Amino acid sequence: MRIVFIGPPGAGKGTQSARLIQWLELAHLSTGDMLREAHRMPSAVSRKADEYMSAGKLVPDSIVIDMVRHRVAQPDCARGILFDGFPRTVAQAEALDEVLEKQGMPLDLALELQVDDKEVLRRLAGRGRSDDTVAVLAERLNNYWVLTQPLLDYYRQQGKLETIDGLGDIDDVSRRIRQAVDMRSPQRTKT
Ligand code: AMP
Repeated sequence: MRIVFIGPPGAGKGTQSARLIQWLELAHLSTGDMLREAHRMPSAVSRKADEYMSAGKLVPDSIVIDMVRHRVAQPDCARGILFDGFPRTVAQAEALDEVLEKQGMPLDLALELQVDDKEVLRRLAGRGRSDDTVAVLAERLNNYWVLTQPLLDYYRQQGKLETIDGLGDIDDVSRRIRQAVDMRSPQRTKT
């Protein structure tokens, strides 16, 4: 299966991603992780990406799409992929559709983890990552609403969107996610 996981920062995507990839044996494609890794091997591109990340801004589509295009072609991605933190813009979603179509493995499902801003801010206040200062957080949340929300319509129109209530107990949220996945894929196909 190919699944896109969408949710604001602090929605609990990290925890739920880890469970999903284990359950469905998917390759984990997190553009945030890839960008942080690139940061450890400095290059002209990673330095440029750093500037955006440290300001809480989205890294330019061309950089991110290029990274994803390379990653998707790697052998472990053939068993299925969980896209985490990507796409974040409609342009990225369109590029992803194109990339997957070329590989003959279309996207199966877009999962939205829904958590309101008040709860997101409460959760993020306790997280303490270096890019979690208040100003940067506000910028990231704003990016989410302005740039990423239109993605929901994009996938809704394709009939691929499932919205999950991200509030409450972690195990309950996992159960809701599993139900949504099962509904789309009763045999839990891994291809
Ligand atoms: P994350 O770990 O997904 O919250 O990403 C951390 C930071 O990396 C974001 O605030 C962005 O600056 C950058 N980033 C990650 N994924 C993307 C993406 N798909 N498009 C643009 N920027 C991204």
